[in-house]
Amino acid sequence: MSSVQLVVLAVNGLLLWGTAYAGVPLQRYEAVLKQQSAPEDRQLGLYDDSDKVVGLTVSNFDETVVNKSHGALVEFYNSYCGHCRNFAPTYKKLAEQLLPWSEVVIVAAIDCAAEENNGICRTYEIMAYPTLRYLSPGYQPAPQHYGEPLRTIDLDEIRGLLAGKVAAENLTSITNNTAWPNFHHISDSDSASSLFEGLSSLPQYVAVVHEPENSTLAIETALFLLQWPAVQVRRVTDPEVAAKFKVEPGTNPVSLVDRKGHIKAYSPAASTGESYAQTIEQVLRKESFTPRPVKENIVAPEAKKTQPTALIEEVHRNKHFVYQADLEQAIRTILHNEVPKVGEISGEKLLALQRFLVVLQRYNPLGSNGRQLVTKLKDYVVQFNTQLSGQQFEQEMKRLEGELSPVYSTSHYVGCTASSPRYRGYSCSLWTLFHFLTVQAANNEASQDPLEVLQAMHGYIKNFFGCTNCAEHFQAMASKRKIWNVPNKEEAVLWLWAAHNEVNQRLAGDNTEDPEFPKIQFPSKSSCSECRRSPESTSENLEIEWNKDAVLSFLKNIHNPQFISRFGVEKDEVLHPTAEKMRQKRQISSVFTDIDMRMGMLLYAFCILMMVVAFKLFAFKGYRKKPYGHDMLGKV
Ligand SMILES: Cc1cc2nc3c(=O)[nH]c(=O)nc-3n(C[C@H](O)[C@H](O)[C@H](O)COP(=O)(O)OP(=O)(O)OC[C@H]3O[C@@H](n4cnc5c(N)ncnc54)[C@H](O)[C@@H]3O)c2cc1C
Repeated sequence: MSSVQLVVLAVNGLLLWGTAYAGVPLQRYEAVLKQQSAPEDRQLGLYDDSDKVVGLTVSNFDETVVNKSHGALVEFYNSYCGHCRNFAPTYKKLAEQLLPWSEVVIVAAIDCAAEENNGICRTYEIMAYPTLRYLSPGYQPAPQHYGEPLRTIDLDEIRGLLAGKVAAENLTSITNNTAWPNFHHISDSDSASSLFEGLSSLPQYVAVVHEPENSTLAIETALFLLQWPAVQVRRVTDPEVAAKFKVEPGTNPVSLVDRKGHIKAYSPAASTGESYAQTIEQVLRKESFTPRPVKENIVAPEAKKTQPTALIEEVHRNKHFVYQADLEQAIRTILHNEVPKVGEISGEKLLALQRFLVVLQRYNPLGSNGRQLVTKLKDYVVQFNTQLSGQQFEQEMKRLEGELSPVYSTSHYVGCTASSPRYRGYSCSLWTLFHFLTVQAANNEASQDPLEVLQAMHGYIKNFFGCTNCAEHFQAMASKRKIWNVPNKEEAVLWLWAAHNEVNQRLAGDNTEDPEFPKIQFPSKSSCSECRRSPESTSENLEIEWNKDAVLSFLKNIHNPQFISRFGVEKDEVLHPTAEKMRQKRQISSVFTDIDMRMGMLLYAFCILMMVVAFKLFAFKGYRKKPYGHDMLGKV
């Protein structure tokens, strides 16, 4: 170890020592926990009742989208996936825009990161996030039939595809939905009066809308006008038929036909279904027609959002700390959510899971029950040669957890706490766990494989990490940065550190960044000034000249199991029954070095020896004086 490393180790060690264990304000934290562990404190999704997305969970999924008279667009997402977070504003906008369509099709979403929804996300074979599926009216789940995918995240494209699917529904599935528009094209034989045949007395107008080939303009217009019983929209594509109703593609693509056969053409401001609908609405309003109120969607009760202020303060105070709580949360999410969600674990996936569990077993940060759990789970998984299902894994994991309970010392993030539930959390804890594992491997003399952890991580991210976009980026970065050429275990620690910094750099300022925790080039100057060679280097500067020896020491220090902070741990006994004693012992040994201790022992032994000698001398003297004393006494 170089002298720089020694100095850095000592300074950082002392800093961490002083704060990681010193008087965790437990009462304050308990108060926060109480606030957080209220029954409503479950996994929060990306949508709430302030927006128009219908919130689905396992408890309302079937009743909201299965065998209904309306269709449903369902987004399967992971609340911790940056791509899903980026897409959420678009989806909210879509839901807001398509609210008038809700009697025919609703816009809904389910969070696959919530453990309770594992079964649904597994059944629907969700392989990437976000996934959009259209479920028809009357939909019944069946093997190979879990909705039709919509492979775009562009708002206009989604709306168009959805309109196309709605219009293509066959009539039998929608017979009991009276709001369903007539999407049939006007034919050559139709006339102004025949357009009203078969209609109830409510519609006073039929809107004839020209729809160019490969467009859904008229379908969308009809859907935007669902709340207006005074009008029925009909599609026309043939320009000659359109002309019969004064419709001219390009100039007057919309006309209104009344019951007396009067026809008036209109020229909407824009070529969109929404704009066509607005033009028609204006006419209807002038004539004092009113819309029906929009049907309220059934929204699953959302959890109250608590701001864990005390946790945020703690993390701001100790920016580079690694917390036991986050390591546990990462493992829990992997075991409870990410692996069980996979329908079939076979081939490369199975190998990746086995490798990951072997590494986790070796460097497991959990307490003794947690270590047993991972060991038994690994033994279970390695028995399978060809395939196992996510459900089998989940059952075995839950059985073992029941047997070994309690396994986890906490159920909340600490270092990965965010200012809002849409930030940080699991992906932050996953980085933390993998950094921890690379450091433990580097400190382990027994293993010589430099790629042990990186390979396990690569396989896990590729096959199980629910942030699809992140996984793709990571694989590209891994080959660009030549992950398979990493020469030794210490370089593996640095490889992951540098790769993570590259991701930080790319995401700095992104809308997935928590404003309370901006992405920096890690470690910051204030956390480790020795880590940067040039004092003027800033966190914004990608070309920071790093002192890699110092960085390595710093990373080894903060991931040293002795320095992992237990702030926020609810069940300390789950980790080490004698944690307090060990801490006291460590506090003593942090004040005295080994040499001090040995000198102390020597001094102690020397004192005892001196006392024995003194006693012997005294006793011998007393023995010699005794006859004299006796004489004296005898004389007296
Ligand atoms: C493998 C992987 C790939 C990802 N790719 C993407 C992506 O392509 N797009 C996307 O939007 N999101 C991606 N994410 C998520 C993203 O990187 C963050 O995890 C997320 O935005 C939360 O950020 P955060 O601020 O909590 O800190 P994170 O970046 O998650 O960091 C967690 C903690 O690690 C420590 N840390 C930070 N940098 C380093 C470092 N260089 N070395 C050691 N420790 C460090 C800090 O204490 C920090 O609090 C990815 C996550 C993972 C695990």
